[in-house]
Amino acid sequence: MRATSIYAAGDIRVIDAPDPKIVEPTDALVQITRACVCGSDLHPYHSAPTRPGGTTIGHELIGVVTDVGPDVQTLSVGDFVIAPFAISCGRCEFCRAGLQTACVNGGFWNDANLGTGGCQAEAARVPLADGTLVKVPDLDPTTADDGLLASLLTLSDVYGTGWHAAHRAGVRAGDTVAVIGDGAVGLLAVLSAKQLGAERIVLMGRHEARTDLGREFGATDVVAERGQDGIGQVLELTKGGAPNVLEAVGHLPAFEQAVGIVRAGGVISRVGVPQYDAGPIGWAFFGKNTTLTGGPAPVRAYIEQLLPAVLDGRVNPGKVFDRTVSLEDTPQAYAAMDARQALKVMIKP
Ligand SMILES: [Zn+2]
Ligand SMILES: [Zn+2]
Repeated sequence: MRATSIYAAGDIRVIDAPDPKIVEPTDALVQITRACVCGSDLHPYHSAPTRPGGTTIGHELIGVVTDVGPDVQTLSVGDFVIAPFAISCGRCEFCRAGLQTACVNGGFWNDANLGTGGCQAEAARVPLADGTLVKVPDLDPTTADDGLLASLLTLSDVYGTGWHAAHRAGVRAGDTVAVIGDGAVGLLAVLSAKQLGAERIVLMGRHEARTDLGREFGATDVVAERGQDGIGQVLELTKGGAPNVLEAVGHLPAFEQAVGIVRAGGVISRVGVPQYDAGPIGWAFFGKNTTLTGGPAPVRAYIEQLLPAVLDGRVNPGKVFDRTVSLEDTPQAYAAMDARQALKVMIKP
């Protein structure tokens, strides 16, 4: 099969890779209908060490089951499935608590322990298939609308991750929420906050096409300024700070912004993968009795809940995709997202 591999920072190639095979009796094989590039894939794109043999990449996919191991009970060949970005057993203490990213038997894509590959590819081997995959009933990907497939694909990561930010922050009807970041996760955190009933949603981002989509998803205010100017504007708009701050970037200035705009007694919920190990947790943070939460989103816990509104078109999270490429053109997808010419690129194997 064809698969995407990273050889060094900036060096993405589409290569011939072995066809995936059933290894464990709990595995399924999936023919990938759509995959995509994630904002978090840009971190290795910037800084991966040189690996002469390359390593496959990609962690968001939807597709059709083509084979199942003898112990797979809930899936059959031909089922259309959503695969979250984490592999999970569905049975351990953490899976039962809805924290599948901490599954004691699971892991991630392109994981040496699990023997998984990356999934910007034609097909994937999915370990622990019963726990990991979610079947979408009555969907034929050959006739399904492109927009619907795009929205279903967001359930493998970015929509569930935006939802996790809002859920962990405890957003409730009538709340004021500030969202930091106008990438796909930030925009879907806006959509999620709106779905949870937030009344005022301040989006901090400076790319107008993106913040316009944020307004469509429910943002009531947009603050383009960063640093102290941005903090000052949010404090003014919210008369003293936002009780719920959703941080969807992961760089230190975004966390500093969160600490600056959170209201006394408020919550900062982080879903941007932190690119820092230390931050402003002294008086600026402590003095406001701030709660800090968030982490890798257990998107598997949210798919069934979020699916109905996607299927009946009440929400269109797939609007975060503004470009589609063939698998062979995946290197261009990385370049376009890196240059911020594209918000999120879908891959059609
Ligand atoms: Zn992702
Ligand atoms: Zn588990």
